[in-house]
Amino acid sequence: MSLYRTCRKEVDKQGSGRLQKIRVAVGELSAIDPELLRFAWEATIQDPDAGCELEIDWKPAIQRCPKCEEIKPRGDQSWLMICPECGSPLRVEGGYELDLLEITFESESEDGETPA
Ligand SMILES: [Zn+2]
Repeated sequence: MSLYRTCRKEVDKQGSGRLQKIRVAVGELSAIDPELLRFAWEATIQDPDAGCELEIDWKPAIQRCPKCEEIKPRGDQSWLMICPECGSPLRVEGGYELDLLEITFESESEDGETPA
């Protein structure tokens, strides 16, 4: 899984260490199922990163009216195609994210030291 390789590379760039937690943004329209992502992550991480936590930042797509400049609320799974105020077709924005937001890791050089 390329996500893990990217994280691993980041840690190696900083020296070496153990991944503790990563945070990713997943968009509603990115065709990524958060549950599947979590499952794949658990299956992919290896020592010394076993147990690394995956935090998913869910990014819903939004609908904006180009005329009113307003974000129109919508119910679960339902899309308004037309602005209820002015009748303009709504634009869909966002929802395609798949971004690595944050990596938390423990530096290896600090391992093995006597805790203060
Ligand atoms: Zn409108």
